[in-house]
Amino acid sequence: MRKQILALGGDGIGPEILGHGLRIAQFLADRSGIELDVLHGLLHGASWDAHGIFCTDEVLENARASDAILVGAVGGPKWDDIRVPGGAERQDGLMYLRHHLQTYLGLRPARAWKPLLNKTPFRAGTADSADVLILREMCGGAMFATMRGQREVNGLRQGYDLTAYDEAEVARFAHGGFQLARQRRKKLVSCDKSNVMESYKLWREVITEVSRAYPDVTFENMFADNCAYQLMMRPHDFDVVIGCNQLGDILSDMTAVYAGSLGMLPSACLSANPDKGPVFGMYESTSGSAPDIAGQGIANPVGTILSVGMMFTYSFGLPLFEAQIESAVEDVLQSGLVPPDLGGTATSEAMTDAILERLAE
Ligand code: NAD
Ligand code: MN
Repeated sequence: MRKQILALGGDGIGPEILGHGLRIAQFLADRSGIELDVLHGLLHGASWDAHGIFCTDEVLENARASDAILVGAVGGPKWDDIRVPGGAERQDGLMYLRHHLQTYLGLRPARAWKPLLNKTPFRAGTADSADVLILREMCGGAMFATMRGQREVNGLRQGYDLTAYDEAEVARFAHGGFQLARQRRKKLVSCDKSNVMESYKLWREVITEVSRAYPDVTFENMFADNCAYQLMMRPHDFDVVIGCNQLGDILSDMTAVYAGSLGMLPSACLSANPDKGPVFGMYESTSGSAPDIAGQGIANPVGTILSVGMMFTYSFGLPLFEAQIESAVEDVLQSGLVPPDLGGTATSEAMTDAILERLAE
């Protein structure tokens, strides 16, 4: 089997954690006889500095020709305030790829790890086996507002982003959510603010309509503020939680608390529902580019390494590898090796070396 991936380091810790993810991907590919072609490219700040644009046509073309993209992370103070003529997708390299590749289904699994329970702020028993899949819509909503800008209204500066979702955008995403819930514990909560916002009223209506096709999945609508509270108070009651682009972004960082660090969280953005076989996807740690620790070799590589596992599952159709990676990570954590974000002293390299060693056993 031959697979091509596009590797985009991006900015900050991005190139570092990408490198660690690639080591794991190459090792697993070699072991299983997969010929892995890795193309490299620049994204966001790195691309801006080289080409004056956050994502080039060449990168998009290479993405289209690949089975998957593995991303480090993007962004940093140097580029955060740059504004480019054009829509939301023009302002950010990752959003450019999400928009053009329509990777609308954002999977952000958040779970507890036994060896890390004492690194979390939870009281014993509260989140010991937390295992929640946050699903974030990746291609629409407020973040991709077409009506956006700053203007003067009544002599005051006003900023605005029109939040809009059409029923097709919500329905394709909801189907993905119910299908994924079917492969898990068959519980799905959709969160919104339909009590106060019109776009969320349609969101709730469409999701509720879609839910009727999945009578085997226990379905509930929740207001997002309450949902955030309940996710912290009683994590064990949740399985799949779906939300719009903005709510999903916030809830997925929040549930990283189950693991003890944002650096532990993987993610996948898929361009189709994965129930019928491998699909194109972008894989990256849920976190950002962590400029505060970039260049020190101490970033937690686990989020990216777990993302590689998701890539084997969803884009290569080889789910066994994801389980192997998770179990290797668990063993390494159990041995006491942890990076600084979890209170330890292990470097990124030491973490990856140890995970590779466990995988080789
Ligand atoms: P961040 O996620 O980069 O960092 C938040 C905190 O978590 C920091 O203390 C950081 O050190 C820590 N952290 C994150 N990943 C870590 C890891 N792997 N190991 C150890 N510690 C880790 O968020 P931020 O500081 O608000 O944003 C920094 C930049 O990243 C901004 O430019 C932002 O726009 C961008 N960003 C990018 C993405 C992405 O690439 N998908 C996502 C979110 C933010
Ligand atoms: Mn985020």
